[in-house]
Order: sequence, then C-alpha cells, then structure tokens
Amino acid sequence: MGEAAGDRPCVPWGTIAAGALPGRGMKWPGSGPERTSRRWQRGRRGRRWSTVKVDRRPVGATLGILDERPAGTAPGDEELLRERTSAWNAALAQLEEAADVLGLDQGMRDLLATPKRVLTVAVPVRREDGRLEVFEGYRVHHNVTRGPAKGGIRYHPMVSLDEVKALAMWMTWKCAVVGIPFGGAKGGVVVDPATLSMVELERLTRRFAAELLPIIGPEKDIPAPDVNTDDQIMAWFMDTFSVNQGYSVPGVVTGKPLAIGGSEGRGGATSLGVMYSLFMALKERGSQPSEVSVAIQGFGKVGAGVATFLHDAGCNVVAVSDVRGGVYNRRGLNPQALGKHRRATGSSTVATFPGGDRISNEELLALHVDVLIPAALEGVIRADNVDAVQADIIVEGANGPTTPAADKVLDDRGCLVVPDVLANAGGVTVSYFEWVQDIQAYFWSEDEVNHRMRQVMERAYAQVADLAEERRLSMRQAAQVIGVGRVAEAHRTRGLFP
Ligand code: NAD
Repeated sequence: MGEAAGDRPCVPWGTIAAGALPGRGMKWPGSGPERTSRRWQRGRRGRRWSTVKVDRRPVGATLGILDERPAGTAPGDEELLRERTSAWNAALAQLEEAADVLGLDQGMRDLLATPKRVLTVAVPVRREDGRLEVFEGYRVHHNVTRGPAKGGIRYHPMVSLDEVKALAMWMTWKCAVVGIPFGGAKGGVVVDPATLSMVELERLTRRFAAELLPIIGPEKDIPAPDVNTDDQIMAWFMDTFSVNQGYSVPGVVTGKPLAIGGSEGRGGATSLGVMYSLFMALKERGSQPSEVSVAIQGFGKVGAGVATFLHDAGCNVVAVSDVRGGVYNRRGLNPQALGKHRRATGSSTVATFPGGDRISNEELLALHVDVLIPAALEGVIRADNVDAVQADIIVEGANGPTTPAADKVLDDRGCLVVPDVLANAGGVTVSYFEWVQDIQAYFWSEDEVNHRMRQVMERAYAQVADLAEERRLSMRQAAQVIGVGRVAEAHRTRGLFP
C-alpha cells in the first residue's frame, strides 16, 4: 500500500492564484476563434512538430466556469475560486468540450454530466483505545450504460464528493476509450490511513464495504484499489461481501491477491500500460526509450512500477518523489535501490535516498527532462506552475493531474500530453480481465494478460492519435471525444426508460 499523505507539498486544485484565471470580459491568451498552435502532425515518416491553425474555443468556455469570475465576487475570493476550479468542474469542462466537437444536444449533455447514483455513508469505527470515530465515505456511479460500474476506492484526508464525482466521470470515459464493457465509478473515505492501526484499517474497510452492499456486486459495481488502498483492502472487501452473500464472490472486486481470485499481472498493470503509452508516443516521435530522461511524481503502486519498468527498458529515470519530497540524479536512479532504501531504513519516503540530491515536488515538475509522469494526485500541474514545466511529453499516470487551464498552456506550447483516460487505462483493462477470469473461474498466464493488455492499449492509443490528427485535436480532446461519443451512442442505442 502506498504511504498515507501527511503534509501536501502539491496542493491540488485550490491553490490557483486569484490572478491566474482571466476575469469577466478578459480573454484567454490565444483564445480567438483561430489561433496558431504547434502540435504533433503525422507525416509519412511518423509524427513531427508543425505549426497549424486551430479553430476551437477555450476549455470550459461554454460552461462559463473557467473563463469568467462569478458576478459580485472579488478577485481573491479563494473559496469561490476553489469551487470553480475543482476536479469536478474540470471534468465538466472537458465533457462540454467533447460534447461541442460531437455536436451533442443539451439533453444528452445533461445526461452525461449527471452522476447516475451518489451514496454518502457514515463509517463508524471503534478505535483500539475504545473511542468511537465516525468517518465519511462516498461511492459514485457516474454512468452504467455500457456495463457495470467500475472504479477504485481511495482513502485520503482530502477525499471529497466533488473529487469522487470527477474520478467516477473520468472512469466512464476511460472504460469507453479502451473499449471495455464497464461504466464509471469511484469511492473514497475521508481518512488518513496512516493514523489507523492495521486492526482499525480492517474495521474501517469492512464497515465501509458493508455500507456499500446494496450497490456493489459483480453485475453492479466492482471496486478496485486506488490511492492508499491495496490488495489486502480488496481482500477484506471481497470477504465482507461474500460473507453477506453466503458464498465466495471473487468478481465483486479486482486488484485482489492471487490466492482469492486475483489476476496475474494486475499489480503492475497500470504502470505497464503507462509505459506502453509512452512507447507509442516515442515511436511516433522517432525516439528510443534509451534516449529519454524521465521524472516521475509519486512513488506508490503506479509511480514505483513505472520507474522500475522504464529503468529496465533503458530509460534514464532521473527523478522520483512522494508526498514527502523527491530525489534527483541526472545520471539516473535505480528504482530497485530506492525500494531497498525505503525497506532498509524503514523510511516511508524516497526523499532521503543517498544516491541523489533532495528536491521538492515542485522542483521535480520543473526539471529539464524529456518525459514527465505525474503519478500521485490530481491538480498538480496548474496555471500557476505550468510555465515552469519543461518536459516535451507528459504521460498522465495519475487521474486528473493537469488542470484545464494548464492543459491549454501545454497544448499551445506543443507539449504532447497523453491523457489519463488513455495513459493509465492498463489498470482497469487488466481489472476487466480479472473480472472475466473470476466469472469464468478460468485463469490466464501473466504473459497472456500482458499481451492482451498491450493490444488493447496500442489499439486505443492509435485510435486516439488518428482522431487527434484528423480533427486537429489534442490527445486529451480526442480521447474525450472517443470516450464521450461511445457512451452517448450507447445511450441512444438503448433508448430512454420509460
Ligand atoms: P498510491 O497510494 O499507491 O501512491 C500514491 C503516491 O503518491 C505515493 O508515493 C504518495 O506518497 C504520493 N503522493 C501523495 N500525495 C502527494 C502529493 N501531494 N505530492 C506528491 N506525491 C504525493 O496510489 P496509486 O495507486 O499509485 O495511485 C496514484 C495515482 O494513479 C492516482 O491518481 C490514482 O487515481 C491513479 N491510478 C491508479 C491506478 C491503480 O491501479 N492503482 C489506476 C489508474 C490510475
């Protein structure tokens, strides 16, 4: 399990300075109907940089949530600004932009923008010292038109309903982008798990699972690990559900241990998928993995796995970080040595690794590297720090690490951003394989799992890249258009009850 967040060097979303967003009547830089943009173009010899005219509106403009300050509010009204730059608003802005490209009518937009089901639960836990403490938990089903709801469970002190709704919406598009038959869900408990003993963590998990019983199940909603949750927590979820059913139901969660129906390859699947996405980006650019330097923010399940896979593939991983800070060595870091250091010293951070210079998370984002992989939390690349980002390629291991305002700056600059709904979809793809194996009670080899996942990722990447080129969209816009378009098509095909 990744360590719990204590102090937060990268405060998501809310930290955008009041002056960072244009006020009423002000224009986004370069936001005229036609502006010049440098972007990847595919020619006979693969993709190359070129300058093209792009005709499109700024992200969020049609919702009016990002380009205007609300009437009557003064600059510096942090609370309102936080509200208007939240993960949920970012997800809505991305949806609206895709809906514009797709020409969706208002009814379909409203349908896709509204979560199907939102459950808030109280999770009372008896602490080992006898105290009773109550935590708040959420589970959101954003959309289940293409299949059962699928999404992780997060334990973090900053979990909010707003965040869980956004993460659930992104799951809907992600499953559609890679073409797996799931809808989108997410769940979380507002808790710092580092403050709980193992016994308390199990009590919290079992009670949370029990509160979700009416809405989870292999045909309804299949949770998985996310930030600060792991295979053991999924085992407790599965056991709690199974005890209540009276028989074993392995298909109720994915990311479980192998001993109770987990899949080979699930542990490293998200990281491996991030690597495949990066390799597709490098291939189009005509670069070899051995030629690129990489910085990775987050050294948990996703980040540590990516660091290891990329190092083994010959990339120069020069920096990694976690919630407590990072380490940098321009000659490269050995992820296995980093892991060994954490185990040997009992330290929960990579920042104290002696084989490099200590850096902050902000410094990591600003390193002069070819590839940046945010693999921690959302909202870390924002309007107020995007100018410092120097990487040519960003592959989003985390969900929602780039705010729409920062995304636009990166796009204008010609930075290739492989978006979360594509880049980290290897995890949910192998979760789908795990669910299929559980239902069939027939298990595959790790090679088979990895091979099939790679096929899914490469096909999805190619579809997104082709659409981006054809319609002159960014990779994020193209991925959103594909994801939103497939869900809208499913709605139209099924029709509306009654
Ligand atoms: P994790 O809990 O295993 O690891 C999170 C890492 O991020 C830890 O190293 C932690 O120290 C670091 N971190 C936390 N807060 C930070 C901060 N403010 N600044 C810098 N670092 C910080 O979680 P994970 O499963 O690796 O998930 C990471 C991201 O990847 C999340 O956005 C998650 O939604 C996304 N994701 C995970 C999976 C999966 O299969 N686990 C799949 C798809 C996407």
